[in-house]
Amino acid sequence: MNRRQFLAATACAGPVLAAKPRPILIAITLDLEMSRHYPQRGITKWDYEKGNLDATTKAYTVAVCERVKKRGGLVHNFCVGRVLEQPNVDWLKAIAAAGHPVGNHTYDHVNVLAKKPEDIQYRFRAAPWLIRGKSTTEVIRENISQTTLAMKERAGITPDGFRTPGGFRGGLKDRPDIQKMLLKEGFKWCSSHYPPHPLTREAKPTAKVLEGIVAAQANAQPWVYPSGLIEVPMSPISDVTGFRSGRWKLDWYLDAIRLSIEWCIAHGAVYDYLAHPSCLGVVDPKFRVIDLICDLAEKAGTSIVNLNQLAQRAKPS
Ligand SMILES: [Zn+2]
Repeated sequence: MNRRQFLAATACAGPVLAAKPRPILIAITLDLEMSRHYPQRGITKWDYEKGNLDATTKAYTVAVCERVKKRGGLVHNFCVGRVLEQPNVDWLKAIAAAGHPVGNHTYDHVNVLAKKPEDIQYRFRAAPWLIRGKSTTEVIRENISQTTLAMKERAGITPDGFRTPGGFRGGLKDRPDIQKMLLKEGFKWCSSHYPPHPLTREAKPTAKVLEGIVAAQANAQPWVYPSGLIEVPMSPISDVTGFRSGRWKLDWYLDAIRLSIEWCIAHGAVYDYLAHPSCLGVVDPKFRVIDLICDLAEKAGTSIVNLNQLAQRAKPS
């Protein structure tokens, strides 16, 4: 069959064979940690105390959860363990009690791909005695297991999923040891892959950049690693990439989010929105991003779901 015959044949078969595309699955995920350069440029102290959430960050988290729940959805949160050292964690218990899942984001926001102690996290570079005598792998495993313990003991929350601090191109593809560690720590899926995409800095994104971000959605679909661990990627563009790295204006960012979700709707894909209340709460106090995502979900006839549901769409890698 030549190309023309093939096209003619498929065009005829179209109405019969055309299966209804799978509905989009949209998640809104919040990483509960402080972000460098927020609330003001130049602030870097959070690198050493990622879990010392300020009042604005906590209030924004609670408000987003309530807002999404009013629209019939749930927010998937990821908590760094050090949050559980704060004097009051009632706000976190309340969002979990309202049904919003909370996953493990390590205790100190460690780099799970680190191979040397000095690459694990700023806190341990500044205070190396905290991890002296332990291997890098041991420090990373403890940082994960202590978070699970802290969440259970302090807040009565069983972690729902794992997200690596930092998104990696390819996720954990090259680290079967970390995949196995996560499975052993009780996780069926992790969220570690953030696909590469173009970005403008301090300038309105061009059509080409927006196209690149939309195209990256195809590379942000869940898969199963050979180890059996499931990957639920983060879908570009994250708040810190747009606002901190790109210094984008909110309207530019909203355009990129809308175009990305529209692509996912058209292709029956999943969309895992990643934000940090410590950043998004500063640049978008009126919840325009969250409302836009809820509006698009509603238009597509769906609501905001958790990452377990996205994980069910995983394909073998
Ligand atoms: Zn993080």
